Amino acid sequence: MSSVRHNLWLRASLGILCTLGFGNCGGAPEPPIQRPNLLFISIDTLRADALGTVAAGLSNVKENPTPFLDEFMLQCVNFEQAWSHTPKTAPSHMTMFTGLPPRVHGIGNQRSSGNPTLGLEARTLAEVLQSVGYRTGAVTSGGNVKGYLGFERGFEIYDEKPKQLPAKLADARKWLASVAGAAAGVEQADSASEQEPWFFFFHTYAVHDPYLPPAKYRKRYTEPSYAGDIIGDPLELRAAIYENGEDLAEWASSHAKIEANFWERVDQDDPADLAHLQNLYTAGVAGMDRELRLFIEWMEESGLLENTLIVLTSDHGEEFGEHGMTRHHQLWDETLHVPLFVRLPGAAHAGETISAPVRHMDLLPSILEMMEVPDPGTILGESWAPWIADPDTIDPSRVLLGEHRYSLDDPLNLWSLRAEGSLLISLHDSETPLYFPNSAASKIGTNGAIVPLEGSEEAAKRDRLLDAWRREIGRFQAAGARFSSGAGAELDDKTRAELEALGYL
Ligand SMILES: [Zn+2]
Repeated sequence: MSSVRHNLWLRASLGILCTLGFGNCGGAPEPPIQRPNLLFISIDTLRADALGTVAAGLSNVKENPTPFLDEFMLQCVNFEQAWSHTPKTAPSHMTMFTGLPPRVHGIGNQRSSGNPTLGLEARTLAEVLQSVGYRTGAVTSGGNVKGYLGFERGFEIYDEKPKQLPAKLADARKWLASVAGAAAGVEQADSASEQEPWFFFFHTYAVHDPYLPPAKYRKRYTEPSYAGDIIGDPLELRAAIYENGEDLAEWASSHAKIEANFWERVDQDDPADLAHLQNLYTAGVAGMDRELRLFIEWMEESGLLENTLIVLTSDHGEEFGEHGMTRHHQLWDETLHVPLFVRLPGAAHAGETISAPVRHMDLLPSILEMMEVPDPGTILGESWAPWIADPDTIDPSRVLLGEHRYSLDDPLNLWSLRAEGSLLISLHDSETPLYFPNSAASKIGTNGAIVPLEGSEEAAKRDRLLDAWRREIGRFQAAGARFSSGAGAELDDKTRAELEALGYL
């Protein structure tokens, strides 16, 4: 037998811990743990119901856009109720990597008053894994996952150059080949690094707006009869920008110009435009699915899947007019419900489904537990790793708090809270939050909202949700004081006054 002790959590989850002589079953001293590699994939803006197997929450999808992810899901544990805390890229990713909600870590998207960076008290996934001997690399597309915000901490390389998805995946293969010694790689690893586990973070905006999918998929998923002004062809969009007097030389580097020239043609009150946006988005999802298939197949052929834990998720979803807006600015299901698949080494527990709710802030403690890496003591999320090995431990009662700011420099003044199958959501233009006894009824518009009769069962449940919101805000507010970048201490005046009156602050 190898002198290296294999990952105990994984052995336990496979149910073969003591029978094979692993773990604390005998008196011999423990050899070092052989931990798995970790591949963390974030498909920015991928909403949970954009995937084929969940039957496309996008109403006019003509053809399953995700045949690969559907197959891949069968090798994974699928978390059907995975929720982001916020619909914005920077805070959402930082929550995944720190186990802290946005109110605590304080990181926001680009702001006119400047961005805080992650406080030194917080510990990121890359920092923790690097400290126990992992090689660490990231290939991202920059934007709001810019390294300086704190994302680059703990990474040997943190690539943030915007490129098309195939080029980014080529960069990913190159790093993995050099570090892991993949047979099909560009170069071989040196012998010293062969035994070191690695952590690789891959992030793409391939399905983010402006929706400019590969031509093949655009033709397949859009209606030939569409007669509106939206341009989903990158070359046409480039020509339009040029005609508008923009500097052609800056085209490739100016996301803002592309965005302006894309979105200024959208009539958000026109159902045909909304349907076309949705079709372009779906075409991008299909293109991403194809590229991901090639990448994961390459990993398999290269022997890189064998001892690798894969986590695939998204930072937030996308809205197409379900609640009066497009892109991702609100806290409804379409922007906060995200996919989460976890492929264990050896595809253990393949095809299992967990339907209890989990949050992005639970990812870090769960990953660390599965990899048998000690918790850094800074995390507020809770691990769901035991649920996989023992369904009796599943806790269906986790409270899902969403938070966002109405304007760029506002404090976190929009919120949602999901618990007991119900939803409370605070909108910028309403004094009291809307209550949906059945959160699924909030999927389109606000027709499912009710005002419960005072003294009724329903009123008691609404009050429990309101109390849960106060508790979460109070708990996060207190925790935020530990993290010096300070934005976590923001409270709008109304919330502060209410929490103080109730004794939460
Ligand atoms: Zn994003």
